[in-house]
Amino acid sequence: MTVIAERPAPGPKPEVDPEPKTTIELVVFGVVVAMPLIALATAVPLAWGWGLSWIDITIAFLFYVISGLGVTVGLHRYFTHGSFKAKRPMKIALGIAGSLSLEMSVIDWVATHRKHHKFSDKEGDPHSPWRFGSGFLALTKGLLWAHMGWLFETDRTNREKYAPDLVKDPDIVRLHRLFPVMAISSIFLPPLLGGLLTWSWWGMLTAFFWGTLVRIGLLHHVTWSINSICHVFGEEVFESRDKSRNVWWLAIPSFGESWHNLHHSDPTCARHGALKGQIDPSAGVIRWFEKAGWVYGVRWPTPERLAAKRIAD
Ligand SMILES: [Zn+2]
Ligand SMILES: [Zn+2]
Repeated sequence: MTVIAERPAPGPKPEVDPEPKTTIELVVFGVVVAMPLIALATAVPLAWGWGLSWIDITIAFLFYVISGLGVTVGLHRYFTHGSFKAKRPMKIALGIAGSLSLEMSVIDWVATHRKHHKFSDKEGDPHSPWRFGSGFLALTKGLLWAHMGWLFETDRTNREKYAPDLVKDPDIVRLHRLFPVMAISSIFLPPLLGGLLTWSWWGMLTAFFWGTLVRIGLLHHVTWSINSICHVFGEEVFESRDKSRNVWWLAIPSFGESWHNLHHSDPTCARHGALKGQIDPSAGVIRWFEKAGWVYGVRWPTPERLAAKRIAD
């Protein structure tokens, strides 16, 4: 068990509004966030037997896991923060897996995310939910902005400035150029598999619906939730310069990324869910890769480092 040293409690934070959020605000946010998930949960039993089969579920699950871990282990913990070092085949595999998420190319994802850490919740952060203020309407607008509105900004984060290491790496530049090819493969591979496995056009169509549309949509919303929900709601256990929070119920779908408070407190740490009981599947995968010898120099958390960053109760 981790032993946490006692630290003096920090004073009131100047960025925190003296008026806390009301219960009604929290309930409204919760309903809005839960609605698409309720719709999806309803669609599953309705479609079962005619529009959804175990083959669709397996394909969707497989692609969700590969592209999702490609984002969390690859684009985020490895390429952006250098939480570990990877051998060349592993580096390329992580770049491909991350690109299958259809989020951004390796270089653009990393540049944008490094900028987020540099300015987190201040002016210059590409996607802070606090951009418009902390009142109910301002924060609702800010949550939508942080979730997906920011994606429609025309300004692109400067690649040379924020990802100088990646633009110099010929492997990464190739992955960056091949992003459209990998994105298209991620769209068409699930229906191809579904069609071949069921040997039917209908099987192809249902695999496209679940394995491509639902899988990509769900992964995108989970990724965006880290930018929106995890900067507004949840627990603050570690000291950070921003409003990053830990959100336990997103830990499994986000592969451990929703332990976002520790992540902002210690960005290069390979494990985000570092406290007892915090599930972090990405860290588990990094551990497997380390045991297999594919990655090395992993920056695992130490009790002393965690204690130094923890806010005293
Ligand atoms: Zn963040
Ligand atoms: Zn990060």
